[in-house]
Order: sequence, then structure tokens, then C-alpha cells
Amino acid sequence: MKNIERIIGTYDSGNKGALLFITAGIHGNEPSGVYALQRVFEILEAEKPTIQGKVMGVVGNKEALKRQVRFIDEDLNRTWTAENIASAAKDSKEKKEMFEIIDILNEYPKNAFTKRYFLDCHTTSAASEPYISVQNVNDNDTWAHKFPTYIIRGFSDIVEGCIDHYKSRIGMTGFVFEGGQHDSPESIEHHEGIIWLALQHACGLNLDALKNYPEAAVTLENKRKNQKTFEIDYRHEIKKK
Ligand SMILES: [Zn+2]
Repeated sequence: MKNIERIIGTYDSGNKGALLFITAGIHGNEPSGVYALQRVFEILEAEKPTIQGKVMGVVGNKEALKRQVRFIDEDLNRTWTAENIASAAKDSKEKKEMFEIIDILNEYPKNAFTKRYFLDCHTTSAASEPYISVQNVNDNDTWAHKFPTYIIRGFSDIVEGCIDHYKSRIGMTGFVFEGGQHDSPESIEHHEGIIWLALQHACGLNLDALKNYPEAAVTLENKRKNQKTFEIDYRHEIKKK
């Protein structure tokens, strides 16, 4: 991936409503959410459907995406601790990226919208069905259950400094979406699907009003019959001797 701009796209149709803030590529070896956002914004720009509020697609670790590595100095999904943010220290490439994303988010404050939602797009090293990982704070869990995939609670109790923790801390509602294996074309499809469904639920987009009903949303919606909720209550860490 070359010449990556921080903002992949923004779209609104001049109506008051919610903000849907989508991040992708927080891990540089997980570009599929970025490709999915590019597809969605292309269609939105071409068709100009009516939505309530605004959707934004924002790139996570620009430098790592360019170099096709997970991160440069440290994991950008572990830097978002209250301490790091309070200290304002930009002492790693990832902290610089983090503060750039925070600056963007600060331009779209709470009082400018009826509600602020987030979606953070990831993929996994192993092949996997798409799933939502939700931190059980605010109304995140209720929101997550509008979507037709597996839902996993409790991962957030194991790790610290994730971007979704930060967004939840500042009062936003949302979850992490794991689209599938890093390089699988299906992961792009799953990300595209969840973005369309999030636009429907957060910003009132009528998918039927699009020239072509997005196939990716159908693919994901077809998984609804298998929807299940899981809870992690123990993690056994395997340490190197
Ligand atoms: Zn990731």
C-alpha cells in the first residue's frame, strides 16, 4: 500500500444524526478494512444516498501499512492507555499516529452529533469466521447484538491500551470487528458487509435505495442464523522458557 492518506473518506448528506467513525489498519499487516472502506466510499460518492449524520473512514498505522508490517516501534493497539494519552509523549512512531487520530476525532465532538459510534476493523493470523469483539461497557453490547456475527465478550479484560477502550472511555458506542484471515479476499468482503450494516443501523442508510444492493451485506446477513455470543473467562498464557 503506497500513498496512504489518513482519511480514506468522509460522507454525509447534510442531515443531523450520528457520527460513524471507522478505523482500519491499526495493525499494518491488516489492510483489508482499508480496502473495504475504499470500496464503500467509492459507492457512496458515486450514488450519493441519503444518510443521517456522517461516516468517516480513518487509517490506523500508516507507516506500518506502507511497510506491510504489524507495527514499527510498538503495537498501536496497546498504546491507548489513559496514562499515555495524559502524558502526551510522542516517543514512538505509533504514539505519533495515535495522537493524529485523536486530533481528527476531536474535530467531531459529541455535541455535534446525536450519538457517536465506532467500528474498528481487524483481521486474524489464522483463518476464522468473522466475529465481533466487544467491551461490555456503555451500550456496546446491545449495539453489537444488532449485527449478525459471532460476538465475543471479555477480550478487553485481558489486554490494555486498545483503541476501542479509548473510544468507549470517551463515551462512544462500538466494537472491534475481526473480518477473517489477514490476506483472505473474504475478509475484505466481511469488512465491507459490516460497514454497510453499520451505516444502516447508525446513519439510517436504506440499502435498498442503492443501485445494487451490496452483496457483502447479504453475505454477512446470511450468517445471522448462526449468531452466538461467547464470553472469555480465562486465558492461559504460554510463556517461552
Ligand atoms: Zn489487528
